Amino acid sequence: MKYFLNIVLFLFITISCVAQEDVQSKIKYYTEKVQNYLDKEKALSGYYSIDKDGIKMFASSKDKLANKVEFFVSWRLYDTFAEKTHIYSDKELINIYFQTSEFTLRPREYPDGVYTKPYDEPHPKLFGYRIAIDAGHIANDYEMGDLEKKYIKMNVDSARGIYDSLQIAEGMLTMATAQLLKEKLEAEGAQTFSTRVNGLNAFGISFDDWLTKYYATAVDSLYKLGRFTLKQKEWLLGPKALKRDKFREVFKDLELAKRAEIINKYNPDFTVIIHYNVDETNLEWNKPTTKNFNMTFVGGAFMKSDLATIEKRFDFFRLLITDDLEKSIQLSGAVVKQFENTLNVKTAKITDAKYLFKGCLPTTETGVYCRNLQLPRFIHSPIVYGETLYQDNLSECKLLNEESDKTKNKRVQQVADAYYKGIVDYIVTPSKK
Ligand SMILES: [Zn+2]
Repeated sequence: MKYFLNIVLFLFITISCVAQEDVQSKIKYYTEKVQNYLDKEKALSGYYSIDKDGIKMFASSKDKLANKVEFFVSWRLYDTFAEKTHIYSDKELINIYFQTSEFTLRPREYPDGVYTKPYDEPHPKLFGYRIAIDAGHIANDYEMGDLEKKYIKMNVDSARGIYDSLQIAEGMLTMATAQLLKEKLEAEGAQTFSTRVNGLNAFGISFDDWLTKYYATAVDSLYKLGRFTLKQKEWLLGPKALKRDKFREVFKDLELAKRAEIINKYNPDFTVIIHYNVDETNLEWNKPTTKNFNMTFVGGAFMKSDLATIEKRFDFFRLLITDDLEKSIQLSGAVVKQFENTLNVKTAKITDAKYLFKGCLPTTETGVYCRNLQLPRFIHSPIVYGETLYQDNLSECKLLNEESDKTKNKRVQQVADAYYKGIVDYIVTPSKK
């Protein structure tokens, strides 16, 4: 009997040691994750704690001292929580948490019925994958490109090697890239979802229609939420506010939030966000630059002022607990390698742009940077946010200026190809699933 009790005691000690070791390794892993990827200025320790119980968030460092917890997930439940973030919106997750004080979520089906993953061969490479594609910006023509300030116009300047005037609207390039990528992904069995289709923005209407139907209501709602003062509201609704002001001050952020909302509803395996870059030092972009780089962004790199609201703290919490960030880094690493190989343009080092060393954190993958942009923060899936080549580089500008139907543009086709190859590399490499 004594012998038996000893065995039981031995097993108990062994199991609790293993459990303790497991908890210790989790504490170490998540502490390093915050330091490396989420806390850009090493100034956020007052907002979170990672200890033997689990991960806690606090609304302020004062609340942390008083142990007044805003969100908490235990080590026992954190896998369940991470899984649920792919089904529920931030608002739903926050509400459920406050209703029940713990993460016990009601069951809900995936939006499109049964969710399948690749299983038997010989399925096509991307069979069963759900991929969301977001074509950056909204322009379908140069006028809208100019209005959203994503437009390049270079006049004839033979001294600089420009013999015909050149013009590019980034929104037209991203849209064409998204269309070409969608065809490639679907040809290999993937299901895709696009945030903007048929020349319309994520609200499913044109910007002009949005102004007529929703602008005034949107300004009023934002005023009621405290985003605008009465004076700002009156100015925005008055005759002095230009279309460009209405776009920048009201529409832009609402439309980005809509993109994230419809992507999250689709519940993708991962999301591809497509942008083309410019040289930040080349203001106005009406003359060429000699610089040219590729890079990709993932979520993270929060600054101190970035945790001012409960929603933002929840986004930080969600990025910390789920493995979306780790998967985003792998996916983005695979894609940025293909940008360099396919486009023959170098991957940016952190010293190659001011916003990289000032606003980003490097990751284990070259050319993949944590940056607290809206979409990487809002989207509940792994992402790759691509910024390929500099449109204002002289040779790129000339290449991108070709063809009025940008799906026929050779350089755009190469960019779509690079995304596609990177995605396939990410999926077929066993360690990167
Ligand atoms: Zn862009």
